[in-house]
Amino acid sequence: MRIKFWGVRGSIPAPGPETNRYGGNTSCVSVHTASGGLVIIDMGTGLMHLGNSLMAGAFGKGKGRAAVLLSHTHWDHIQGLGFFAPVFIAGNQFTVWGPGGSPEVLEAILEGQMDPNFSPLQTLKNFSARFDVRAIGTGDATVEAEGVAISAWLHPHGATTALAFRIEEAGRSFVYASDVGYPESGPTDDAIAFFRGATVLLHDSTYRPEDQTTRRNRGFSSYEDACAAAVAARAGKLVTFHYDQDYSDDDVDEIVGACKAKLKPHGIDVVPAREGEEIAI
Ligand SMILES: [Zn+2]
Repeated sequence: MRIKFWGVRGSIPAPGPETNRYGGNTSCVSVHTASGGLVIIDMGTGLMHLGNSLMAGAFGKGKGRAAVLLSHTHWDHIQGLGFFAPVFIAGNQFTVWGPGGSPEVLEAILEGQMDPNFSPLQTLKNFSARFDVRAIGTGDATVEAEGVAISAWLHPHGATTALAFRIEEAGRSFVYASDVGYPESGPTDDAIAFFRGATVLLHDSTYRPEDQTTRRNRGFSSYEDACAAAVAARAGKLVTFHYDQDYSDDDVDEIVGACKAKLKPHGIDVVPAREGEEIAI
């Protein structure tokens, strides 16, 4: 699997000189499977850049196919959709798996974003590509897409919930767990069970603990939660992700440094998610 980061920021795009090194786009990660499939996780503004890069290959010729896993439908996870060039090319095929309980509910939410009051696209029906929306159940669920087994786990995220995903291929596993709101006691047993033994655990690292304290109702993790989850689940590598929009690159450096110091004694590597970078497992 090759895992590439296209948007790593939380809540709202935060471009500018203070965020150039890690990037200001919101959540989007691509996974190219060893067997040649493409899985896209979340459709934040980073999706636009992924789309532009895909246009150089099969997607530019209307011969591309991908599964899209959607954790939840907050703005920073769906706003790239209307600017994703491959959906405007006939012949491309996308299957979107996400929350909502039913395909009709999820499609209606995504359609709402295209309303003329919010977008010049007006409706999802203006996409030329095939765009199938499927729902993932409200409990643990497994889907088969792009030739790999993907399991999903629904977890609390402030006033709502979000899905985490686990992709398994050839004995390697990649877990994507963004926008995770734990109780004050930290990662829960069901979280740790879902993350257990992951080759790579990408985990919400939105806050420093002191900022989480005053914003706990928003439903995000601190980097300490991410480290605790990695240790308890015995993950091979922690990827920090979904940095707070107000944090500069220097702030993120500090978070990454603190995670490295915490996880080194446990033999767990820390890799910060950074726009344009890729890891292979
Ligand atoms: Zn988010």
